[in-house]
Amino acid sequence: MRPAFLAAVLACFGATLAVAETQRPIIDVHIHYSQDAWSMLPPPEAIKVLRQAGLRKAFVSSSSDDGTQMLFKAAPDLIVPVLRPYRSRGETGTWTKDASIIAHVEGRLKANTYAGIGEFHAYGADADTAVMRRMVQLAKEYRIFLHAHSDADAVERMFKQNPEALVLWAHSGFEQVEKVRAMVTKHKTLWADVAHRTDHAPSGKLDATWKQLFVDFPDRFMVGTDTYTPERWHYVIEHASYSRKWLNELPPDLADNIAFRNAERLAARTLGQ
Ligand SMILES: [Zn+2]
Repeated sequence: MRPAFLAAVLACFGATLAVAETQRPIIDVHIHYSQDAWSMLPPPEAIKVLRQAGLRKAFVSSSSDDGTQMLFKAAPDLIVPVLRPYRSRGETGTWTKDASIIAHVEGRLKANTYAGIGEFHAYGADADTAVMRRMVQLAKEYRIFLHAHSDADAVERMFKQNPEALVLWAHSGFEQVEKVRAMVTKHKTLWADVAHRTDHAPSGKLDATWKQLFVDFPDRFMVGTDTYTPERWHYVIEHASYSRKWLNELPPDLADNIAFRNAERLAARTLGQ
């Protein structure tokens, strides 16, 4: 290699390192890589997006789970696999009453390693169907979390089935901040992501009520993009920048907790790393 070229490469590498050092690492806990994203963004491209966003890790689930497995194979250091119970996109509203889901989930849990089951959708009494009860039981058996897109009522029902369940509450249930506070106060093993909501930081500026909630519960909150359609993948990098912006308003330790440490601890707890 010619010295000038080598110097240029090294300078470039140095610049990349410098950027990586100054950027706050993020663990995005709400990434989906469902079937309709695979051709638009093949695994190497998807991994590139996650790395460009400066993610330390990404919690990934998909309909079907094959998408998650493809990404995990491409970048095991980056991907934290979470098992979505859906075999295809259309099962969101019917799965809690579809007994065939149970064997599917049991088979996947035996074959692969996951940090959690989800993200799934269950509201109110949906959480008490035989299928959902089995999910809560399986999460307990495997000591993994439930990533629940649920209202507070359904989350309560899961904790009634297993008071020690580990629940990652997707979108903080889209509940009002007061309700979120009541829930994290009541349940010690409830974590919440603020994916696909902006009331905690409208236009990138931290809301005072949410800020107080983060200060009072420094170990419970996480960030996520929610790539529920392929197009949302275009937003992953921008979302990481948006998160860094409002996190900067918090004391550094608390910001690090929400940015990556809370997620890292939950992954370590469930994957036993
Ligand atoms: Zn989602």
